[in-house]
Amino acid sequence: MEFSEEQLNKFWSFIEVKTEDECWEWIGCKNRDGYGLIQVNKVRYLSHRLSYLLANDELPTDLCLHSCDNPPCVNPKHLRNGTLEQNVEDRVARGRGRGQLTTDMVLGVKNPNTNLTEENVKYIRQHYKKTHYHGSNAKELMKQFGIKSKSTFHNIISRKTWSHI
Ligand SMILES: [Zn+2]
Repeated sequence: MEFSEEQLNKFWSFIEVKTEDECWEWIGCKNRDGYGLIQVNKVRYLSHRLSYLLANDELPTDLCLHSCDNPPCVNPKHLRNGTLEQNVEDRVARGRGRGQLTTDMVLGVKNPNTNLTEENVKYIRQHYKKTHYHGSNAKELMKQFGIKSKSTFHNIISRKTWSHI
């Protein structure tokens, strides 16, 4: 994968580079879980995955794990390629819930065009209400989660998408 110097400069301009061992935090756009986001060649990347790619010349096969457990960190030294099972173990070891286990996978691999997390989807489904006269609170929920299209929203509600949760 090739990136222009301009694209690389843009990428680095969003990173607070510190010493080799410290966390390099992403100061650009982030998703709700705190992971950095950047769009290059019309593809939206999670910043830490792009950082891994630049450091290793390949994208992580499925998950890109943080040894520092700091989502905005993009220090390549803190990133490693991992399997879903490893991620589960990591999170369990750190006492984090199971709720977001696949967020990174879903965002980074399966569905690069969404910022939504599993938590968001659950929240939307729980709080979606039909009101009188065929109205609903869909508009407010769409606004709250930055969902642009009605079909995206209805696919979530009707479980056409995110059917695994
Ligand atoms: Zn870090």
